[in-house]
Amino acid sequence: MIYPFEFMLHRAFFLFLIFHLPLIGLSQDKKVVFIILDGIPASELESVSTPNLDEIAKIGGYTRAFTGGEKGGESETPTISAVGYNSLLTGTWANKHNVWDNDIASPNYTYWSIFRLMREARPKSKLAIYSTWEDNRTKLLGEGMAETGNLKLDVVFDAFEKDTVSFPHDFDKEYIKKIDGLVSYEAAYSIKTHAPDLSWVYLEFTDAVGHRYGKSPQLTSAIKLADEQVGRIWEAIKFREEKFEEEWLIWITTDHGRKAPEFKEHGGQSDSEREIWMVTNAQNLNNRFNSRDASMVDILPSLIDFLEIPVPEIQRKNWDGSTLLNK
Ligand SMILES: [Zn+2]
Repeated sequence: MIYPFEFMLHRAFFLFLIFHLPLIGLSQDKKVVFIILDGIPASELESVSTPNLDEIAKIGGYTRAFTGGEKGGESETPTISAVGYNSLLTGTWANKHNVWDNDIASPNYTYWSIFRLMREARPKSKLAIYSTWEDNRTKLLGEGMAETGNLKLDVVFDAFEKDTVSFPHDFDKEYIKKIDGLVSYEAAYSIKTHAPDLSWVYLEFTDAVGHRYGKSPQLTSAIKLADEQVGRIWEAIKFREEKFEEEWLIWITTDHGRKAPEFKEHGGQSDSEREIWMVTNAQNLNNRFNSRDASMVDILPSLIDFLEIPVPEIQRKNWDGSTLLNK
């Protein structure tokens, strides 16, 4: 038997549900995709037709930025691929994250990657990687290691560079081009159908062409191809935003520039090697985004800001960058 007072409580709770459920249902899920297109100098990107990047930049913004830490200072960081990726992933320079080259001999996992920050803040979030290089997951993110809290990703699409039967290695690295194509198609399909909360897409062919030919028609073609691959993923994001109550942030960057004027090598501290760029659909970019003071280590704080996840103070205070978004 329900007593009158208790009945009123039940009724109040029922009314609460009726009035609040729709609001709960309408709250938008926030999702992030970040893409690294390897080794594209900003001046080359700007001289090539990239309709997909342009469409995204028109919504949010495009800027030149820098990597490499403080030149001549404690945080000076080689303009080398894995080093740059890890500065993005951890929001710190190499003197902290301790990745100095592509061997990734001894990363300092004390500085949590964005994947670990997300996993700790939201244990049930869906984490994804689509990548032309397996080391990004196994070494930089340190999947399954005790030092990373046994971080586990939910969606993994990588390691095809190790399959030399399906992708025989050739001089011009056409196999990397094929793998990038596959990775971009899978990323687009997976995002469209499963909508991971945090996705990292890594595409490599532009760097392979840069090393082989430098500034060249081949590099121009590779940049156009990378733009098409981004477009595929961007279409998937637009599909999700139209069909579902989701808000998506896409952030595209490169890991380093190349040494002028040939644009073949990188790793040093020349201006053209330190120069990177960013494209995003974020509409609340702050003044620093366009100031050319923006850098690789500002990306992680920006993505975290968008996701609105709690971050342990010890992690946050060790970041070398800060958000590029307005509150
Ligand atoms: Zn690179």
